[in-house]
Amino acid sequence: MNLRIVVLPGDGIGPEVTTQAVAVLQTVSDVCGYEFRFESHHIGGIAIEKEGMPLPEKTLAACLEADAVLLGAVGAKKFDGLSGERRPEAGLLALRQALGSFANLRPVKAYEAIADCSPLREDVTRGANILIVRELLGGLYFGQPRGLSEDGLSASNTMRYHADEVERVAHVAFQEARRRKHLVTSVDKANVLETSQLWRRIVGSVAKQYPDVRVEHSYVDSFSMQLVSSPALYDVVLTENLFGDILSDEAAVISGSLGMLASASVGGKVELYEPVHGSAPDIAGKGLANPFGAIQSAAMLLHYTAGLYHESEEIMRAVERTLSRGLITRDLSGRRNRPPVPADAIGQAVVETVSDLLQMQMAYHAV
Ligand code: NAD
Repeated sequence: MNLRIVVLPGDGIGPEVTTQAVAVLQTVSDVCGYEFRFESHHIGGIAIEKEGMPLPEKTLAACLEADAVLLGAVGAKKFDGLSGERRPEAGLLALRQALGSFANLRPVKAYEAIADCSPLREDVTRGANILIVRELLGGLYFGQPRGLSEDGLSASNTMRYHADEVERVAHVAFQEARRRKHLVTSVDKANVLETSQLWRRIVGSVAKQYPDVRVEHSYVDSFSMQLVSSPALYDVVLTENLFGDILSDEAAVISGSLGMLASASVGGKVELYEPVHGSAPDIAGKGLANPFGAIQSAAMLLHYTAGLYHESEEIMRAVERTLSRGLITRDLSGRRNRPPVPADAIGQAVVETVSDLLQMQMAYHAV
C-alpha cells in the first residue's frame, strides 16, 4: 500500500496536533510494511507570512496530486484585521472548494473514560455514537444572489439546492448507515422551507434503494433538542450545510471536548481530513493541545482513502485505551479533576499502543 499524504499543519496548535497524527500514521506504515509518503505545505496565516497568500498555488497543486490531505487548523490573531479573501480562513474554504468534497463526515461519540467532561449527564450520553453527514458545498453558504445592499441597511442570502446535490450526499449517508446501525435520521425544516421539502422528497426516494436501512425525518428545531436529550437514539444524521454546521458543533458536547472530534470531507477529487477544532491561539505552544481529534482524523484517512479498515480501527482502539489509562490533556480533566499530561506523552502512548495492537494481530495471523 502506497499513500502520498499532503500535510498542512497550518497555524496555532495545528502543527502540534498534526505532528502526533503523522507519527501514528508512520507507525502503521512501519509496522505493516506500507509506504506512506508525507509532504508538508503551508496554509492559512503561516502561508500568508511565508508566501503572501492563504492558499499558495504550490500548496493547492500538491493537494490535488495527493491521495489525501491531512490538515491541522488555520487562523491567527494577527491576521484578524484582514478582510475576506486575504484571511487565513479563506485559504481553507478555497481548498475545500477546490477539492470538491461535498460530504462532511463527523463522528461524535461518548467516551466512557471521559464521560464527566460532558456537561450532559453520563446516563444521557452513555452509548451515544453518531455520524453526522453534512452537505458541504450547497445551501445558504454558497447560494446566489447574496450580499449587502448599497445603503448597508439590508442583506440577503439564498438557500438553494438542486436534487442532484441532495441525492449524492444522501447516498453517502445510507452507505455509511449500512456499516453501522442501519438508521438514517434526515434533518430538515420541511414545514417551512421549500429547499427542505425538496430535501425530504429526494432523501425519501434514495431511501427506497436501501430497504435494509430505516429512515426517519426530523425537523431541525425539535431535533436540536433531541440530540442533547437522547443522543443514544441516533446513528447516521444527514443534513444540509447550515443545519449541519450548527448541529455538529452542538453534538460536540456529547464527547466533552472539541479536541476529541475528527472529520473527513469526501466525495471530491481528493479527501480532506482535519480535526474539528480551530487553531486555539490561547494554548498554542504550551503542550496543552489535545491531539485525539487529529489522530482520529488520521484513522479516518486510513478508512476512507486507503480502505485500511483494520488499521483504522486499531487507532481508534488505541485512543480509547489511552483515555482509559488516564492519559489526558487539560481540556479532559473533567469534573473529577484528573491530572493532565503533556500532549506529546499522549501521542507517544497512542503510537506505542497502535504498534502493540498491530504486531499482536500480525503474530496471531502468523501462527
Ligand atoms: P478554537 O477551536 O480554536 O478554540 C475554542 C476553544 O477550544 C479554545 O478555548 C481552545 O483553547 C479550545 N481548544 C480547541 N482545540 C483544542 C484542542 N485540540 N485541545 C485543547 N483545547 C482546544 O476556536 P476559536 O477560538 O473560535 O478560533 C481560534 C482561531 O481558529 C480563529 O482564528 C478561527 O477563525 C480559527 N478556526 C479555524 C478552524 C479550522 O481551521 N478548521 C475552525 C474553527 C476556528
